[in-house]
Amino acid sequence: MSIRLKTKLTVGLVFLFSVIVLFGVLGLFYINRLSTEGRLVLQNNHESLVYCNRMLQSLEDLQTDKNVLAAFWENLQKQQKNITEVGEKEATDDLARNFNELLVNPADTTNFSDIRRSIYKIQDLNEMAIVRKNAVAQKTAESAKDVLTILFTILTLVSFTFIFNLPGIISGPISSLSEGILAVAGKNYKKRIYLRQGDEFGDLANAFNTMAEKLDEYENSNLAKMQFEKSRIETIINQMKDGIIGLDEKKNILFLNAVAEKLLGLKESAITGLYAPDVAVSNDLMRTLLQGYPEKKELKIYADNKESYFNKDVLDVTNNETIIGQVIVLRNITPFHELNEAKTNFIATVSHELKTPLSSIKMSARLLTDLRVGALNGEQQELIRSITDDADRLLKITGELLNMSQVETGNIQLKLQPANPVTIVDQAVQAVLFQAQQKHIHIRTEIAGNLPFIQADLEKTSWVLINFLTNAIKYSPEAADIEVTAFQKSNKVEFIVKDQGRGIDEKYLPRIFDRYFKVPGSHDRNGTGLGLSISKEFIEAQGGRIWVTSQLGEGSSFGFTFNMG
Ligand code: ADP
Repeated sequence: MSIRLKTKLTVGLVFLFSVIVLFGVLGLFYINRLSTEGRLVLQNNHESLVYCNRMLQSLEDLQTDKNVLAAFWENLQKQQKNITEVGEKEATDDLARNFNELLVNPADTTNFSDIRRSIYKIQDLNEMAIVRKNAVAQKTAESAKDVLTILFTILTLVSFTFIFNLPGIISGPISSLSEGILAVAGKNYKKRIYLRQGDEFGDLANAFNTMAEKLDEYENSNLAKMQFEKSRIETIINQMKDGIIGLDEKKNILFLNAVAEKLLGLKESAITGLYAPDVAVSNDLMRTLLQGYPEKKELKIYADNKESYFNKDVLDVTNNETIIGQVIVLRNITPFHELNEAKTNFIATVSHELKTPLSSIKMSARLLTDLRVGALNGEQQELIRSITDDADRLLKITGELLNMSQVETGNIQLKLQPANPVTIVDQAVQAVLFQAQQKHIHIRTEIAGNLPFIQADLEKTSWVLINFLTNAIKYSPEAADIEVTAFQKSNKVEFIVKDQGRGIDEKYLPRIFDRYFKVPGSHDRNGTGLGLSISKEFIEAQGGRIWVTSQLGEGSSFGFTFNMG
């Protein structure tokens, strides 16, 4: 049966209180008993002895003084009232009878001896009683001593048991509890407290164990949840078609997915935890990835027994705005690349196939204007001009599309040779002269004397200049001036086409060399938006640099620079 702590403490205190009370009561009882016995001896026996002594004295004095009889009588009367012992009454009665006889005949002294005997008898009886009562008192004192000693010993032992056990009853569970609390604070949720007692401490221990159990369950369920989340994310990452590499903030490798393993040719288990730059020493792709490879550019990687194309994305992993790692994503763009390639091939084939019939249309149209074929009326001549213009425009477009497909497939065939800048400029100006004249535009050329030859593809460089000039004519008003300059600037030769046309808004300048880009609202239905992007590719393929400056409403300057060959 379990006893509550409160009950235990109450029992302990009640016991100690009872010990005090018991000792007090017993002490008082024995003291009282001893004093009663003493008083009785004094009262019952000692007083009788005093009366007897006085009566004997009166008897002695009777020889000389007859008046002492009164004193004798007085003491006899007191003795008659103080009869306490067995046989004392008979002796006192004898004494009274003899004394009465003495009173009748005071001169007769014969019964003096009877009187004395009776008095001695009374004295003996009382003295014996005193001795007997003293023995009783002694015995009472002895038994009091024994009882109190035994009681004292027992109670002392019991009290000692209390003294030794009571602090333990309280401090033992408290230290067990504090030990348990410390363990739980240290995340040891498996800790339990076993107190085999059903008191308040037992309740506390049970409550503690329930709490630890709940914390343990919570911890385990959290862990299970996190593990589930981890495997879910791992499954997603592994199912992805893109290569994914996780790094921590110190560039140690955390994980690779299956695609990344295949691309790098490394097993995840072999390199997780390794410092990525260390892995890069023996792995080309890892080196490229860590080198801050331009993110827009494609990576060509041999994978799946074919050439595959990837885009690299580096994503920072942050926690409360602190970067705690990086994820490198290698996005597989091979399907797009293949589609784009198919498109380019298609365009190349179509443009190529269109070129011959278009040239023949143009040729036929020109032949029709020959008088030998037959004279044409004005309307017919106008129709022929329109056919020639359209054929020219279509030839220009097919030419641009062909060039673009060459550029896209990386098949620019350069015929680099020492070229005279004067020839380049002359060829280009000659090519656009007719167009310029139609708009009454004056092209002014300014070529610095003694310009050195440059290492260039004559045809392609002229093509770029023609493109600049065609645009300048197209976007200039009637009768405007166009300036073509070529000059040397340190060890470079620079070509510039400057017009007084409508100019280009500053915000479009960064995109002007992009493929298919046309300035919005230019209402130019004939353009493809390819001319400048092909120009850029042509110039850069030759190691040159292309640029533009423009002011809206004031005109533009397009130029390119070649290093001297
Ligand atoms: P397009 O064949 O359409 O002319 P380009 O690549 O040659 O394509 O030119 C791209 C765009 O740049 C044009 O659509 C036009 O809006 C703008 N542009 C090019 N040259 C000039 C210029 N000299 N003045 C004003 N705008 C120009």
